[in-house]
This record gives sequence, C-alpha cells and structure tokens, in this order.
Amino acid sequence: MIIADQESQRGRPRAERRRAHYRAAYLPLSEFAAAWDRGLLDATVHRSHADYRRELEQALRHIAERPGAVVWVVPLDVAGLVAYAEREGVDPGSRRTRLDYNDSLYGAGRDIRWPPPRNGCCWCGSDLKYKQCCGAPGFLAAEMADPASLVLRVELDDVRPPVWRRIAVPSELPLDRVHELIQTAMGWRQARTYLFTGNGATVVDPKLADLVGPAPVADSERLISLVNEIGDRVSYICDTAMGKWSHTITVEEVREPDGENIARVLDGAGNFPPSKGENSNEAQSRGPSSPFPAWSPLAFSRADHA
Ligand SMILES: [Zn+2]
Repeated sequence: MIIADQESQRGRPRAERRRAHYRAAYLPLSEFAAAWDRGLLDATVHRSHADYRRELEQALRHIAERPGAVVWVVPLDVAGLVAYAEREGVDPGSRRTRLDYNDSLYGAGRDIRWPPPRNGCCWCGSDLKYKQCCGAPGFLAAEMADPASLVLRVELDDVRPPVWRRIAVPSELPLDRVHELIQTAMGWRQARTYLFTGNGATVVDPKLADLVGPAPVADSERLISLVNEIGDRVSYICDTAMGKWSHTITVEEVREPDGENIARVLDGAGNFPPSKGENSNEAQSRGPSSPFPAWSPLAFSRADHA
C-alpha cells in the first residue's frame, strides 16, 4: 500500500471513499518516546520526532495533491495500540497493526483535519501555530538522512537454476532508481518499460503513466511506500529486448545503515538469460558471447548509486 503507515481509507462507507479521505497515523511526542521504549518501532522510522513530523508533513502535502483528497491526522496512543494488538492477536510492532489500529479509531473523534489554518494550532500537538511549527518553510526544508536500509532479495521468476541477487537499498530511494539498480544488479540492459505490483499497489514506469490512468508513477514514489516490513513481497516486471520478465522482490531485512546509507549488491547467483521454465544449466554455461555480464558483486558502484 502506498504511504502504508500514513493513509487508510478502510472503515469509511463506500460513498465517503469516493471523496478520498486519507487518515494519517501519528504518534505524538510522548507516545513516540513510549513506542521506542517498548520496541514498537523499527529502523524505517526516524529517531528524531522532528524528522518524523517533517516526513509526515511532507507525505501529507504529497497526498493532498491527489484529486478530491481530504486529509486527517489521527493521534495514536501506545496503550491503546498494545491493547488492540493483544485483542487481535497481532504484533504490536508491525506497521500493519498501527494501520489497522488507526482504522479501528474511525469515528472515535480523534481525527484532526489537515492542514490546520496557518494561524491555528499545529496538528502535531505542540501548542505552536501551524505556520511556526510543522508548516514553517524552514522546518520543511531541513535535510533528513534516510534512516533505514532494506535488504531485498530479487529473484527471476520461473527459471532454473535460480537467478537472484541480494541488494541493500536506502529505504527512501525513488522507485525509478530502484528499477535502475535492479537492472544493473541482475544484468539487464535498458528495459523498455517496467512496473512494480503487489502489496496493494501498482507503481508504473513514468513512460506508462498516460497509458494506464491514475496509477502512481515510479519517479514520485519511494521504496518504503511499496514495501516496509520483513517478508513484504512485490513483483517487478520489465519489458526487455528479450521479452517480459517477472521478478519477485522480498524484504529480507530492515536495518539501520552501518555507515553511509548506499545501495550495494551483497550476494547473488545465476546469470542471464536462461530460458523460461527450462530446467538446464544453460544460463550458467553461456560463454563470453552472451550479451549479459557474468554475476559480479561489483555490479554497481558507490558513486553511481549513493
Ligand atoms: Zn507541529
């Protein structure tokens, strides 16, 4: 789901959904601290509450540009979240649980309309005016480090022997850049078009935007919007000179970057291109005449993809 932790339309009557209400889950400062203390947040969440608020404000502005969008902020409380998780028998530390808890609060009277008036109280609960708090241009302009690295397994579907790469990718990298990384890491060259699909969303190559209607496009969506928890899985399909190829992307790890948060190929096996469904070693035995490079751990460089 796009902006998975920050929007939800479920729980609304059908007619209301057409008005595109978005309810963003938000942990006020004291609840944010309590959530960290209880181990309910992971590396994909900014450690600083200011960065967390800044990211949410930016995401809300992005959502508000959608036609007919009506945006709300829903303050969550940790005690209620934990009680909800116990009742439902789910993990209180999962983003999915926060989103479902947020859904369960529909109609509970907590929703705060966003944006507030410029001179009104900020949505974040700070007692400052919105224009002097989360709505201040200086606040929004501050640079934030990407807090997490997602370790992805990218595997070509329906081929034997398996062709796969394990890559570490900054969590907030735009999906058009993720596409470029996969192309390089897997050994493809210049796919004509591509799309990501699964986890409740389809994100398309910007070149396809006019053809497929209102689907989100890859240059304005981030990796974290598509997958954000261990085990999350989506398909990546690219149209190449050798036909359409489908890959399964699985999140294997969510971690704080050790040092600089850059894209890296960590591991892999298998070379391209095997025949679909062919149970042979042809892929491994292709000689130097193959148009595809042999698997190399140096498939892409720091300079190109930092
Ligand atoms: Zn604020």
